[in-house]
Amino acid sequence: MTYAFTFDASACSGCKACQIACKDKNNLPVGVLWRRVYEVSGGSWQQQGSAWTTDVFAYNLSIACNHCVHPKCAGVCPVDAYVVRPDGIVYIDESKCVGCGYCSWACPYSAPRYNPELRHMMKCNFCFDNLDAGLPPACVAACPLRVLDIVTVDDGPTMVGSGLLPAQGLQPLWNIPGPEHPFPLPTFSRTQPHLGLKAHLGMVNELEKEISNWEEIKPQSTPRKNFLLKGFGELPLIIFTLCGQMAAGMALFSFFLEPFSIPILITLGGLIVLGGLASLAHLGAPLNAWRTLNHLKKSWLSREILLFGLFGASWLTCLFIPGMGKLPLALCGIGLVYSMARVYRLRSIPAWDSWRTTAAFFLSAGVLGALAVHLAEPKAWLAIGAGFLLAAEVGVMLSEKNPGYETARKIRGGLILLGMTGAAALAFLMENTGSWLASGIFLIVLAEEIIGRWLFYQRLEERVL
Ligand code: SF4
Ligand code: SF4
Repeated sequence: MTYAFTFDASACSGCKACQIACKDKNNLPVGVLWRRVYEVSGGSWQQQGSAWTTDVFAYNLSIACNHCVHPKCAGVCPVDAYVVRPDGIVYIDESKCVGCGYCSWACPYSAPRYNPELRHMMKCNFCFDNLDAGLPPACVAACPLRVLDIVTVDDGPTMVGSGLLPAQGLQPLWNIPGPEHPFPLPTFSRTQPHLGLKAHLGMVNELEKEISNWEEIKPQSTPRKNFLLKGFGELPLIIFTLCGQMAAGMALFSFFLEPFSIPILITLGGLIVLGGLASLAHLGAPLNAWRTLNHLKKSWLSREILLFGLFGASWLTCLFIPGMGKLPLALCGIGLVYSMARVYRLRSIPAWDSWRTTAAFFLSAGVLGALAVHLAEPKAWLAIGAGFLLAAEVGVMLSEKNPGYETARKIRGGLILLGMTGAAALAFLMENTGSWLASGIFLIVLAEEIIGRWLFYQRLEERVL
């Protein structure tokens, strides 16, 4: 037996008693909502002769965690904090959560929300304490129109819902493919949400629809704050990815140099330490960071952290046993960049779920790595390589669909062109230039990469829910 929520959108008045009852029972702070009521509207007025007609419509959708058949949140969590009860209820063991926020990126319904007071993630737990005591969830009990309810579903390959569902006009969404789910539910989801829905007429028309109260219910982009640092938005993640990618690129290009020079070893060490500190600064509960290798079986975030650790261990080997550790360092670097790309390629953020993410990460690693190694040991082939990789970055940028952020992209494009010109000058005039030119080009490319990464994180704002 598995629990599922049911919601009759055709009769919801949008009073939000469910949203408030949930907030009250779970003592949620301002800005954190486990259950949200989305107000959707569309249509317009048309003039026909002297008469006006309208197809204006509006409806509400009350939604919390759907306790999915395939909970994506549980699969990606690096500390394995998610628990799936035998009755299908998915909840977070909050004592384990490290506050990384990755589950909220991966959930197509934006159900997990960060609690800035407790510094970890929280979400709807179906009020399982109420259920275990024979009571309904708080939201269901509060609904004055009785349009929000729960049913039990028979377990089995097709998860056939209670026979009453179709009779009541309720569609079991866990049995209906994502592309057929009504707005504003995401059509790409494959998690099979445990939600039975009776559609409002407005849901099934062809007219354009928009969420009218987005400011009220959108996920708060609360910067993590911990005892190490005050929150800096996504800045720690930008620093971590750029440091990790630059270090991986340096390891790859240095592989062809014999032996490692002291400046390269010191720079690599500095990048590893800075990247590691930045990743800790991003966590709400860094004291739980030791748990992040708990989910290597499924979570790419867990694997990324392992590869970052192995990369650091290979660097230590290079430092203390000269002549050893070079190959493991280069291989762990490739693995690290690949795992970073896998972490970000999420179906729930369509702009990231593309080959461009993998290509962009490897190109960033290559460009930054080649120029950083060139600073320590100038070689014409490193400058030429950086120039070609920058040209490839332009290709990836131009292939983006619906790119937006025109001004930032133009500035980035200009910096890339400047970097390409500089790299060509470095390659051909190297004998006659001092390190100032190489340093200037490195800083230009670093600025271009920071803008690229910033643009990347802006895509988080384009989520459907
Ligand atoms: S709605 Fe999101 S948080 Fe809830 S079970 Fe599904 S994937 Fe996980
Ligand atoms: S550790 Fe990260 S992914 Fe896991 S529940 Fe906490 S915030 Fe979500």
